[in-house]
Amino acid sequence: DTGGLDSGGFFEEGALVSVLTTQPLDRTLDYKAPEGGCFVGAFVEVPLGPRKVLGVVWGPGRGDFDRSRIRSVLRVLDVAPMREEMRSFLGRTADYTLTPMPAMLRLATRAPGLGDPPSMRKVYRLGGVDPDRMTDARARVLEVLRDYGGLAFTLKELAEMAGVTASVVKGLVKQGAVREEDSPRDLPYPHLDPDLPGKALTEDQVRAADSLRAGLRSGRYGTTLLKGVTGAGKTEVYLEAVAEALRMGRQALVLLPEIALTAEFLSRVEARFGARPAEWHSGATMTERRRVWRMVGQGAAQLVVGARSALFLPFRDLGLIIVDEEHDTSYKQEDGVLYNARDMAVLRAAICGARVVLASATPSLESWANADAGKYERVELTSRFGPAVLPQMQAIDMRAETMQPSSWISPNLRRAVSDRLAKGEQSLLFLNRRGYAPVTLCRACGQQIGCDHCDARMVEHRFLKRLMCHQCGETKPIPETCPHCGAEGRLAPVGPGIERLAEEATASFPEARIAVLSSDMFGTARALKERIEAIAAGEADIVIGTQLVAKGHNFPLLTLVGVIDADLGLQGSDLRAAERTFQLMRQVAGRAGRAEKPGQALLQTYQPEHPVIRAILAGDEERFWRAEAAERQAAGVPPYGRMAGIILSGPEAGPVFDLGTAMARNDAALRQIGAQVFGPAPAPIARVRGRHRVRLLVKAPKGAPLQEAIARWIAPLRLKGDLRLSVDIDPQSF
Ligand code: ADP
Ligand code: ZN
Repeated sequence: DTGGLDSGGFFEEGALVSVLTTQPLDRTLDYKAPEGGCFVGAFVEVPLGPRKVLGVVWGPGRGDFDRSRIRSVLRVLDVAPMREEMRSFLGRTADYTLTPMPAMLRLATRAPGLGDPPSMRKVYRLGGVDPDRMTDARARVLEVLRDYGGLAFTLKELAEMAGVTASVVKGLVKQGAVREEDSPRDLPYPHLDPDLPGKALTEDQVRAADSLRAGLRSGRYGTTLLKGVTGAGKTEVYLEAVAEALRMGRQALVLLPEIALTAEFLSRVEARFGARPAEWHSGATMTERRRVWRMVGQGAAQLVVGARSALFLPFRDLGLIIVDEEHDTSYKQEDGVLYNARDMAVLRAAICGARVVLASATPSLESWANADAGKYERVELTSRFGPAVLPQMQAIDMRAETMQPSSWISPNLRRAVSDRLAKGEQSLLFLNRRGYAPVTLCRACGQQIGCDHCDARMVEHRFLKRLMCHQCGETKPIPETCPHCGAEGRLAPVGPGIERLAEEATASFPEARIAVLSSDMFGTARALKERIEAIAAGEADIVIGTQLVAKGHNFPLLTLVGVIDADLGLQGSDLRAAERTFQLMRQVAGRAGRAEKPGQALLQTYQPEHPVIRAILAGDEERFWRAEAAERQAAGVPPYGRMAGIILSGPEAGPVFDLGTAMARNDAALRQIGAQVFGPAPAPIARVRGRHRVRLLVKAPKGAPLQEAIARWIAPLRLKGDLRLSVDIDPQSF
């Protein structure tokens, strides 16, 4: 398979080829093409010093190296070569994010053992012989196998599904009632059928789906902003676009912001297309990753549902990318390659002639502006599906409430919850703070307990019986004595986290069943999924949660959302704070009233006149966006200007600051393009894992060649000792 490469892309045995490896080198290396030759794009194993490393044949050799010392490619891996469009995508992402190519290649090959032939494993299916003695356990095994038609299971899967031990299955194998076979681990994905009947769409939804389908059939790149309130049926609509892509024989990718989302989502996909799609996320096993990677490359995985890095899978013919909850900040990778999956999805689609659908109830200002400027099409769903209506939103003015000490549920909110309890409906209390209390204070000396490695407070987690740093994850036991002054028994929690809120709720509503949902309380995505399903089924009266609950989940019995601290996100100087708060509050409120019963959202606030709070209450989105856009325009910041962060870090604060100061002084390369540099200032997180961090912010006019200027600016730097520099194009906070 040449993967559509042109015929000129072949190198005869012995020809010089340049190979991009995953090793942190600043150039490609020359090798001789192996026996049998190789194509450009081929995945290869090459010798590097004493090691063998993974690489991709990038082009003809550069020939600037002593030919007699050039070694040969060791072997060509048995996977589809990297396509031209993928090489171009990696190159352009590298240019955009100022990332070295080896790091890009690592991102694109995150499937271990790429070239190994698929290993074999035992699978079990119906054997056709009746066992001589039928027990309940045996009957259950056979029932599972019959229920799933001809499907084969691994021993573990089968035993789990039937609720029996492995020996029961083995016993049935001996009898011939179950057949044991060898099967390659790379099981093909079941076929998805786009022509199964979907839900009957409303007029609004049909119009939206038609528009997405028409875009796809054009066969050309284009991006559509699919906007619609939570529960309007955006998912139903874009699944129709996925169906159309599959009908056209092209692959589709649905990006979701969080693993937690996929559980409910996958069942919806299965219901629509009759089988489960390929999944790509950090929780997947090595074997599963490799399977997805290979199948995507062969075109045998029609649909991938995944987290942001799925964008770097080697699709054979990608026709559609959905970015669900496109405004979500987790699309920005903050470690390693600093890219925003939403923006890179648009780039990738432009390269391979695919369509992009950005779906959101509360689009990012960037996407809103692109739609406003006519760069993106805009398709809107205006009402919730069926009888569901948007919740009524009201502020609770906390200045007028009488609050007991260490209490965060106002009398007004308490009455609303009691009312729901009496009616047998669910309430959600939302507080975007994990743990028991954000601050642990010594009442003797007034000091707070901080992390030893970061510029962050330790947060008490009673559930884990430990203090935890939310920056680096470090935990330690809750001390008896103050680490600063040694006073005994004087440490006290200050302020609420959701565990503490749960305590208050338990005391206030002793008869209620209370469920706490926070990412750190669940060991596995599966445990979390089960909890969410139980809540949706009505196994809780009051749900207490962080932003984990704000997204995507359907809780049909939920009719009240109480936001404990609507002002939380408005503090701080970040220019995006207003946008974030607006989005989060709308998302959370959207959890209420998704079925027949109307919902209500109550926002506890000390600043009911704040323009953002008023915009949230009024639900006047266009007005909010226009006001926000005007402010950003005046400040010359994204999306009306360009921005980059330069993060400098090192073990000592002094040298890091000195480097920053020197860089800010030598800014000729930036001034040439009309850019300004601000700082150095402590980075938003000033110390992480023992390293001091300083940030320079670069602001440039909209059309300016920012990356080129930054590259010229930092090229002459020689970083001494343990100093590090990373560039963050389009930083999340500014
Ligand atoms: P969104 O993605 O906009 O939040 P969803 O697509 O999740 O909305 O739809 C909300 C709920 O309404 C889901 O349970 C969905 O199955 C249901 N729904 C939406 N449209 C229809 C329809 N046309 N027929 C039946 N159910 C629908
Ligand atoms: Zn820490």
